[in-house]
Amino acid sequence: MKATEVLNDLKRRFPNEPEYLQAVEEVLSTIEDAYNEHPEFDRYNLIERLCIPDRIFSFRVSWVDDKGKVQNNMGYRIQHNNAIGPYKGGIRFHSSVNQSILKFLAFEQTFKNSLTTLAMGGGKGGSDFSPKGKSDMEIMRFCQAFIAELWRHIGPDTDVPAGDIGVGGREVGFMYGMYKKMARENTGTFTGKGIEFGGSLVRPEATGYGNVYFLLNMLATRNIDIKGKTVAISGSGNVATYTAKKLLSLGAKVVTMSDSNGTIYVPEGISEEQLDYIFKLKNIYRGRIKEFADEYGCEYFDGGRPWSVKCDIAMPSATQNELDGDDAKMLLANGCFAVSEGANMPSTREAVHEFINSKILYAPGKAANAGGVSVSGLEMAQNSQKLVWTAEEVDSKLKRIMSDIHTQCVKYGKNEDGYTNYVKGANVAGFMKVAKAMMGQGIL
Ligand code: NDP
Repeated sequence: MKATEVLNDLKRRFPNEPEYLQAVEEVLSTIEDAYNEHPEFDRYNLIERLCIPDRIFSFRVSWVDDKGKVQNNMGYRIQHNNAIGPYKGGIRFHSSVNQSILKFLAFEQTFKNSLTTLAMGGGKGGSDFSPKGKSDMEIMRFCQAFIAELWRHIGPDTDVPAGDIGVGGREVGFMYGMYKKMARENTGTFTGKGIEFGGSLVRPEATGYGNVYFLLNMLATRNIDIKGKTVAISGSGNVATYTAKKLLSLGAKVVTMSDSNGTIYVPEGISEEQLDYIFKLKNIYRGRIKEFADEYGCEYFDGGRPWSVKCDIAMPSATQNELDGDDAKMLLANGCFAVSEGANMPSTREAVHEFINSKILYAPGKAANAGGVSVSGLEMAQNSQKLVWTAEEVDSKLKRIMSDIHTQCVKYGKNEDGYTNYVKGANVAGFMKVAKAMMGQGIL
């Protein structure tokens, strides 16, 4: 396999899908050598079958807003690969959603889920519907209309969706309720459900906590203590807030958070009370991060990102391509020595290049943010057993999984000079398991 040839062919066939091509390029460039050590992979044209999703559903979602006007959005589900388990991956509601973004997310999800050590394939779905500014009733009507189409393609052993940007506990609840009504079963399709109806304890916290656990594993390889370290976080949603919460409990200083309008900067570190304010602002009042700056009188970068501030560690936790090459240079110049990604593909190609060339600790999202889907896997296990595990049990399993992912990354990513390239490590480890599972099951 020649990575450039495969990529050029995909570029020709899918010319309008830049995010998808970006994600594929990163994986192909790191797995090429490992792939070519197995000539049998090429005989079965494994790489092309792994890059192109098994199937894509796309559909119109029509719903009625509070003014009685009919609105139409697009809905999608990408079932990327189910070689090691049912398709599994979140649903994103955001005005930017299109097929390219969901294809990149489903592709990444396949390797991430493989890394978790659990039996889950990769998928992703969503809509260009934006929950921002919508009433609860509008969101409910939209979720029901979305599931009225999607329900026939998902199920506990075929495809298990969850949340993502714009889809939290409220949206998952509405979608799961409709799914149950249509499918006439109660087996837990969907993870991230309310704890009263099959959700797992620690699922809301899992992506943020898991990212911090992964970071601790990386820091341990250089004997660095998290206590007292300054951390810049982007985003103020699910992943960002629970990342901040865990960091605060470990004595680190979180100096930034953001949303799509701007960034708050608190040089002395956000307090627990202030974090609580952000949590309520975002989840109950659905406000903007600027309101935090107005309330506490801190600095606010209107339209700006967090990456220009002085910090030891950066944890991008908002969205894809939110940290570019110039941002990376700025972080490095300011002394940043670790980057652990809560979001999916938040760093551009150029930024990744900067981080790896400077040999800082750099964890790509597919390893560092795998805690969310891991606890989703644990939620599926609890639903199958009809049992509920304690928060301590789930948290200790999460810690173990993040540590196992770290071990796999080091195993496949350690260079001769001792530097661990976590991008290569995560890609090769994730790829090998899926590839062997595909080989074992024939050409499908
Ligand atoms: P939320 O919707 O809870 O929060 C998203 C945050 O990112 C908000 O602060 C939002 O600001 C900001 N944001 C979204 N789009 C943009 C944009 N284009 N530019 C700048 N800021 C933006 O989502 P999550 O916290 O769940 O997800 C965040 C990231 O983590 C995503 O990349 C997601 O794929 C990834 N992830 C999430 C997992 C989970 O369990 N939830 C699991 C693994 C990965 P605003 O309010 O202004 O839109």
